Amino acid sequence: MRPTRALIDLEALRYNYRLARELGGRKALAVVKADAYGHGAVRCARALEAEADGFGVACIEEALELREAGIRAPILLLEGFFEAAELELIDVHDLWTVVQADWQIDAIERARPSRPLTVWLKLDSGMHRLGLAPSQYRACLQRLQTMPQVGEVVAMTHFARADELDCPRTREQAALFTQTVEGLGIDGRPLPTSLGNSPALLGWPEVQGDWARPGLMLYGATPFAAPHPVADRLQPVMTVESQVIAISELPVGEPVGYGARFVTERPTRVGVVAMGYADGYPQFAPNGTPVMIDGRPGQVIGRVSMDMLTVDLTDHPDAGLGSRIELWGRQVRAGDLAARCATSAYRLLCGVKRVPRSVVGDSDA
Ligand SMILES: *Cc1c(COP(=O)(O)O)cnc(C)c1O
Repeated sequence: MRPTRALIDLEALRYNYRLARELGGRKALAVVKADAYGHGAVRCARALEAEADGFGVACIEEALELREAGIRAPILLLEGFFEAAELELIDVHDLWTVVQADWQIDAIERARPSRPLTVWLKLDSGMHRLGLAPSQYRACLQRLQTMPQVGEVVAMTHFARADELDCPRTREQAALFTQTVEGLGIDGRPLPTSLGNSPALLGWPEVQGDWARPGLMLYGATPFAAPHPVADRLQPVMTVESQVIAISELPVGEPVGYGARFVTERPTRVGVVAMGYADGYPQFAPNGTPVMIDGRPGQVIGRVSMDMLTVDLTDHPDAGLGSRIELWGRQVRAGDLAARCATSAYRLLCGVKRVPRSVVGDSDA
């Protein structure tokens, strides 16, 4: 069998969740969209279910996958529903939904749910992707609050640039949010709020609301380009590894791989590793991209191909066929690898394909 694996450490996932909740202060919705950023949504939700306050997903298909697997915790549709017909399923499966546009409010008004819906009303505080404009927000909220179809309402917004720690936009967005939702509670109770994604939780302790929404950080990857004292405490959940499947000994001046991007400058021992861009490894990883070779630092040389890549074994005399190569994980941090390859940790984790995943650190998952 092809020796390529993604090991999923569910203890690390729980550790990161606890850290997120500690930073956010109150409750944390574990974001498990996109198959839990490539880690397996059902397995991650099961591993967190005993302690998570709820889960966030991108669409009803993802929510139903969790319900079908027996997950009973609250599940929020982070983009709301895409068509009114979904409201029936939202009711039947007891899901929470974001409302980000007028037409969704109209649809709720026409619906006849069996119990009041929990709605997270989204404000566009400056990202300009989803959400109601500040000028519309109050009226929309008041409409929802008078509908028998609606129960609890949470006010939410999303940050565009929280990963840029010297950028004033995050504070500006938070200020606009606070100003817009001020005084909008019922019976003197303020509206519950939700602001922080991973970079906000890690980097902006002053802008937290009642509900944190950590995604990336749960999986142990940093959203920041530079080292960060809190992000560096995260524990990587996914370790992607493979093995050396062939070796060649080359003299000086020989090209390696497609396009001869690497040419040997010394007698070189080249190891071929069963990992390529079809598995989700960055296609444009430059020469010198870090890997671990039997636990010691090594480098990619030559262009990454679809199913294989090549590493320099010259300084690893003990390495041979079957040597273990960590592509990223506990030792090669996803964030560092992504930065070297002009991609992001988000994309790296979500992009894993064809690689069988197996669980470590959990007996019942
Ligand atoms: C994906 C998502 C999150 C999680 O973001 P991270 O940066 O991965 O923590 C939070 N909120 C919303 C609305 C999202 O879509």
